[in-house]
Amino acid sequence: MTTRSETQTTLDHLLTEIEHRNPAQPEFHQAAHEVLETLAPVVAARPEYAEPGLIERLVEPERQVIFRVPWQDDQGRVRVNRGFRVEFNSALGPYKGGLRFHPSVDLGVIKFLGFEQIFKNALTGLGIGGGKGGSDFDPHGRSDAEVMRFCQSFMTELYRHIGEHTDVPAGDIGVGGREIGYLFGQYRRITNRWESGVLTGKGQGWGGSLIRPEATGYGNVLFAAAMMRERGEDLEGQTAVVSGSGNVAIYTIEKLTALGANAVTCSDSSGYVVDEKGIDLDLLKQIKEVERGRVDAYAERRGASARFVPGGRVWEVPADLALPSATQNELDENDAATLIRNGVKAVSEGANMPTTPEAVHLLQQAGVAFGPGKAANAGGVAVSALEMAQNHARTSWTAARVEEELADIMTSIHTTCHETAERYDAPGDYVTGANIAGFERVADAMLAQGVI
Ligand code: NDP
Repeated sequence: MTTRSETQTTLDHLLTEIEHRNPAQPEFHQAAHEVLETLAPVVAARPEYAEPGLIERLVEPERQVIFRVPWQDDQGRVRVNRGFRVEFNSALGPYKGGLRFHPSVDLGVIKFLGFEQIFKNALTGLGIGGGKGGSDFDPHGRSDAEVMRFCQSFMTELYRHIGEHTDVPAGDIGVGGREIGYLFGQYRRITNRWESGVLTGKGQGWGGSLIRPEATGYGNVLFAAAMMRERGEDLEGQTAVVSGSGNVAIYTIEKLTALGANAVTCSDSSGYVVDEKGIDLDLLKQIKEVERGRVDAYAERRGASARFVPGGRVWEVPADLALPSATQNELDENDAATLIRNGVKAVSEGANMPTTPEAVHLLQQAGVAFGPGKAANAGGVAVSALEMAQNHARTSWTAARVEEELADIMTSIHTTCHETAERYDAPGDYVTGANIAGFERVADAMLAQGVI
């Protein structure tokens, strides 16, 4: 039998090979490291996983599509962006994962997100594979008409690659209900099909699921609550810092408040707001969802309890809980040290890979409960899969039913991660638990389906 350290050496060789074969994709390298550095115990224990080629296939996307997206701005000038869809792994079901519109998007970013998505989707226990897509298009400051023309052009290529049984995109950074509407409209027009299961995150009058907008944020708070229960505490009376002010952040704050915690921050790329009375969600939603404004407007309108800190990071505000909900690598080693100094008890990732590897290490060493995004933010994709189920059955469930299913799924993900970590001698290590449990499910399906 191969030992753990021999297995780790093999995995380290593979990581070097991944870096060599995928140059200039640092986020993808980071995501691959984060998973492969935790798999040695399970690969050493179960010889079938050491089969040559299994992990090599897992780190290579099944298909990668890159395309030109030309569109006209309101002045009639032609703009050209780049579109991506990476169909990473379909061993468990149709590729499933969001679309991100942000100027930082490139192939490496989409591959990191797609790779994470494989394990996240496996953890939900539902029949969905992993994929991700997007564009370097920046929707900030664009009119509705410009966003519509961009989405229509994007879908004019994307439609060939997606379908309810093939690949089902959803939203992510820069892609919310408005964009999904324009994308769905163009898909319907080109294909002449009412295929509601082709996209999730749709509007509620035309195939969307109740609780889908809330699902990622609500799910993350439920995951954080489960981690706190393991420590003999609940969320009541805890102070929380949340970064971001988009879909995930807003519904994270909403659920924290509902469970008795005090969420005192939100942020965007201009800086952060701290509000000692707790974030006023009606005001935040008005500014972000209706006016599409910046967070400094919140501080201006809220009065004495709130202040705006330009360019600052929410992690400097003392708190019991931290829920990063903006973007990758937004919480680094220095931030982790500050959080620990201020007595943080749990960090739960609403965003994908928001915590750098050094920061994760520091938090875990300090005994802080750490919930990795692929487990903690899986509620969004889980409710997307429930949206697909409703579309397939041509029915729609009540909000109460969807929320109950979401709560059951988050509890089950927490239990799976917790038990798997214990089984592999890493008690309390949710990173190891999530990676191994997700890996086992995908690897078993891949082995059963042969070398494809
Ligand atoms: P939104 O576009 O709704 O909001 C993103 C928020 O993060 C905005 O406040 C934005 O500020 C901020 N932000 C984005 N990029 C940066 C950056 N480079 N620097 C500083 N701030 C930034 O996106 P979501 O809320 O949907 O997504 C947030 C995170 O959650 C992402 O990591 C996403 O992958 C992850 N996620 C989302 C899911 C979903 O269901 N939507 C599901 C699972 C994970 P600004 O407007 O100034 O850019």
